[in-house]
Amino acid sequence: MAVFNKEAIHQGNVPCTRRSRAPILYAMDFISPRGKRTGLLLFVFFFLTETERIEGIYSHQTTRRFSSLTQNYFLTHFHSDHYGGLANTWESGIIYCSLPTATLVTEQLGVNRKYLHPLPMNTPTVIASRGKPITVTLLDANHCPGAVMFLFQVGKRNILHVGDFRWNRECMLLPGSPLNGFASEQKNLDDLFLDTTYCNPKYSLPSQAETIEAIQALFLKEMDRCKGSKSCKTLHLFGAYTIGKEKMYLSIAERHNLKVYVDPKRFRILSALNWPKERMALLTTHKEEASVWIVPLGDINMKKLPEYFPQANSKPFATSYDRIVGYRPTGWSMGSKPSSSLVSSRYNGNLAIHSVPYSEHSSFPELVDCLACLKPQRIVPTVNTSKSDEQVATLLKALSEKQTTLPFAAPMEKPR
Ligand SMILES: [Zn+2]
Repeated sequence: MAVFNKEAIHQGNVPCTRRSRAPILYAMDFISPRGKRTGLLLFVFFFLTETERIEGIYSHQTTRRFSSLTQNYFLTHFHSDHYGGLANTWESGIIYCSLPTATLVTEQLGVNRKYLHPLPMNTPTVIASRGKPITVTLLDANHCPGAVMFLFQVGKRNILHVGDFRWNRECMLLPGSPLNGFASEQKNLDDLFLDTTYCNPKYSLPSQAETIEAIQALFLKEMDRCKGSKSCKTLHLFGAYTIGKEKMYLSIAERHNLKVYVDPKRFRILSALNWPKERMALLTTHKEEASVWIVPLGDINMKKLPEYFPQANSKPFATSYDRIVGYRPTGWSMGSKPSSSLVSSRYNGNLAIHSVPYSEHSSFPELVDCLACLKPQRIVPTVNTSKSDEQVATLLKALSEKQTTLPFAAPMEKPR
């Protein structure tokens, strides 16, 4: 189903559709002003007497426009394509999120703490929405630190918004998880707002564990290269988002008991995540203490890597680095052609770049597995939403090949 009309929103005409159905949840998807990715920013609920949908490009101004309708906002995680529009001028209502996300929004964006309401994980919490109770439960999204899925119960209706997530049935269907009720068919999942980043059968990504094993093997190989040589020294640069991809470099640091350099800004951000002190002790803000550095993912390319030589080889470093190896963890590195190796490597003189398909979004088979487990009545894609119909059809086709009967209702009709 088409979920928003960019042009109409830019012109200030928010498209609404009305259907004569029973009272139902009202959902508003806010999207980054940059508009590159149609990810959800904030999720707003209240009741109307008719089904009504409003979706559009978000800005602080539009929040003001709708602030008379709701005081409740839900933020899944601290990635900029989701929090776009949040600033220290925020005064539109309460933002519900996880504790790490609340801390980051306060510290990094300057939003007044009084507007942030962190909720406990895995604990149904009742909040008032236009005078009526809704229950919301935060569940781990297996994405970046602090990322959650929101499970809403509104009357008899169950809605799951996954934000950005990497589906893993072993973790997400643990005993006690409210998602088990859908898997065992004791409860119905009415709406699933789905992270369709990799909604194409060609994205059959390896598991995170497999990718981490592959990067460990690569790292060992790179370490062995300089074994026994005093003149050979390699600087290892791991690409990462502001938050995200931590498991990759922490696994290296933990296995080899190595210090990892992060810049002071990243250190402050990671300090907000309530990590155990043993993990924090692996980090340093002193470059000379570490040969593993965390850098922006965008710096892992042949043009940028040489720029690290001058800073790595200036005082107070005792030994000069003669080689730089970059590690680029991204699901997009998988490409469309099947490959016998998880890793694709490029070499240029004293530079090397290893790309590994490490992703914090669900692969296509994982999306299909998620649907097979949760059996939603409706699927609402939240990425590349101009192709929502196509995405839902692709998912249902793959699911039908996996199952003999389809548990789905027909997709929603398009807005008129
Ligand atoms: Zn994200």
